[in-house]
Amino acid sequence: MAEETVTINTLIKKVQSYSRDFDVEVLKKAYFFSREAHCSQTRIEGSPYINHPLAVADILSDMKMDISGIAAGLLHDTIEDTGTSVKDIKDIFGDEISFLVGSLTKLSRLEFMTKEEAQAENFRKMLLAMSEDIRVIIIKFADRLHNMRTLQYLPDNKRQRIATETLEIYAPIANRLGVGWLRIEFEDLSFKYLMPDLYDELVKKVTKRKEEQEGYLEEIKGIIESKLKEEGLHGKVTGRIKHNYGIYQKMQRQRITFDEIHDVMGLRIITDTNANCYTIMGLIHSLWTPIPGRFKDYIAMSKSNMYQSLHTTVVGPKGERVEFQIRTEEMHRIAEEGIAAHWRYKEKESIEDKDSRYIAWLRDLIHSQKDLRDAREFLEAVKGEVVPEVVYVFTPKGEIKELPVGSTPIDFAYSIHTQIGHKCIGAKINGRIVPLRYQLRNGDTIEIITSSAHGPSRDWLKFVVSQRAKSRIKQWIKTEERKQSIELGTRLLDTEMKKHHLKVSGLKAGEMQAIAKAFSMQLWDDLLMSVGYGKISPHQVVNRLLPEKPHEEVAHKTAKPHKEQKGISIKGIDRILYNTAKCCFPLPGDSLIGFVTRGKGVTIHRKDCPNLERLALDDARLVDVDWASSDESTSTARLIIEAVDKPGVLANLSSAISAMEINITQMEATTTQDGKARIVFNIDVKDRGQIASLMQKIAQADGVIRVRR
Ligand code: MN
Repeated sequence: MAEETVTINTLIKKVQSYSRDFDVEVLKKAYFFSREAHCSQTRIEGSPYINHPLAVADILSDMKMDISGIAAGLLHDTIEDTGTSVKDIKDIFGDEISFLVGSLTKLSRLEFMTKEEAQAENFRKMLLAMSEDIRVIIIKFADRLHNMRTLQYLPDNKRQRIATETLEIYAPIANRLGVGWLRIEFEDLSFKYLMPDLYDELVKKVTKRKEEQEGYLEEIKGIIESKLKEEGLHGKVTGRIKHNYGIYQKMQRQRITFDEIHDVMGLRIITDTNANCYTIMGLIHSLWTPIPGRFKDYIAMSKSNMYQSLHTTVVGPKGERVEFQIRTEEMHRIAEEGIAAHWRYKEKESIEDKDSRYIAWLRDLIHSQKDLRDAREFLEAVKGEVVPEVVYVFTPKGEIKELPVGSTPIDFAYSIHTQIGHKCIGAKINGRIVPLRYQLRNGDTIEIITSSAHGPSRDWLKFVVSQRAKSRIKQWIKTEERKQSIELGTRLLDTEMKKHHLKVSGLKAGEMQAIAKAFSMQLWDDLLMSVGYGKISPHQVVNRLLPEKPHEEVAHKTAKPHKEQKGISIKGIDRILYNTAKCCFPLPGDSLIGFVTRGKGVTIHRKDCPNLERLALDDARLVDVDWASSDESTSTARLIIEAVDKPGVLANLSSAISAMEINITQMEATTTQDGKARIVFNIDVKDRGQIASLMQKIAQADGVIRVRR
């Protein structure tokens, strides 16, 4: 490979080719310093270690990195692996280079408990370093790229780890920073090592496709070229092939086979002006029929990594689909080099203006995540944040906001202020009230309706998409759950203590402390919370209070039916602490019973749920519950319908349900062995009354034999 032939002389020549007035001596000095420092080390395949920093510097020169960046590339492993200190580097090379080398070293020095933690923390530091000086991340990327290119020398387990990390973290950031070629190389190399069989198979298929289509595309290229000439338009037509991992992802995402992917190969036209991009597209559409819905204008609406291009797919001369990408040279450069294309043409303060969109993303991410303690949660957040497309919407005052595609009014509310998010109860889009799960469209003007009496709902997590909203809601729920668990824990414990004529409020601070400690908890509240969550039973706690009764456990097993257990009502406990059972789908109006699960709060069942018989064996964990009043929201319910299997039955049933303005969330129809149709609907209903009248209506419908919940 090319990197094996890199020497300090070839490196200097390359750097001189794009930057004439630089100090050759600094590079030479950095090279000799690094070679000296690494002199006793070899790479795993046996070559002198200096080949690695040289290769990294060479990659950086491909990206036309400035001289300090390249010197830092040569020195990047000296502190980590040898006896060198940051001060040594500073004394010889000055502040700028020593800052870069120091930041790179800090990144690789962190030690952690678990791999996930290491990965997440490493990443967080990387983002922080990057927001200070973007060169740090570029050098880190070059380092990782060379390691990926030489991955075959490493043992299998290391290979897997590094390739996974590259695919999950490095590639998305490269994408986000717009460095297209780097993202592609990261993805394809990771893919090759993580799924070698699939990779080989795909490469074979792509080669075959190329052989089949090359002539055909050549023909189309000829037609376009002569047409461009005829019209006097400047345009360079080239063929392009989708990268392997891109193909694999598309197959996965759309659940299609390789044969169903039509844009493995395509054509790209690079022209001179924006206006000509549109002119050329018009030309193509006049030659062949465009496929509806496949035209994308990323010039008017660039992707958040600043990618710009026109995309269109047409039906070619032989009925084959052909995808075109049309862009200017400048757009092409940005698509390939992203952030790297910017710093090159500017002075030091470059990080501001044009780069600021990349950097703003970064700062926002770091800022919104600073409260997340759990490293794994942070990593998830970051992975989730790498979304390529955005929608632009407006505040009522006409201020523009950029949000990920799929964002809802809630995402918007949190993007304005955490408190506005928490208190959001509704939204008006362009003056019209919409549901909270409405997906924002480009150009929407959004007005958020708030109420100070409200808080977020766990349900929101099912549809919000921005990381900011997700983390804020989770945080709120965590705090609220704690509060409510303590409350519920106190009530459960009080009930249990009453059997022994004791009261929680009668306990002394010392006693509380001692009991908490006995359960390895720091605080009494932590213990109450565990009781509320069902992780510790109130009975276990009382046992600690009554050490003189060792047979309590046995007595407990013959406990009385739950009805005699005095009314613990979880009325008023908010939705977030309980979940409704998936076996009986209880609705407001049904009589209920709660079951304190281990670790998941209270599960609410219908009193006539057949599963309760089994659960009731442990009746200390049953609690009386009732519906909180005036709950405006809907719940999921299930209807099971047996009907004669004939045409139109299904349509009749669906329209009967819709006529009552009931939303169908899921539907499944099967034919039974005796030739009847069995249809199961999942629907959103308000309460027992509503489903009862629906069932009545359905029972009378033509062809229906039986209906039940
Ligand atoms: Mn290295």
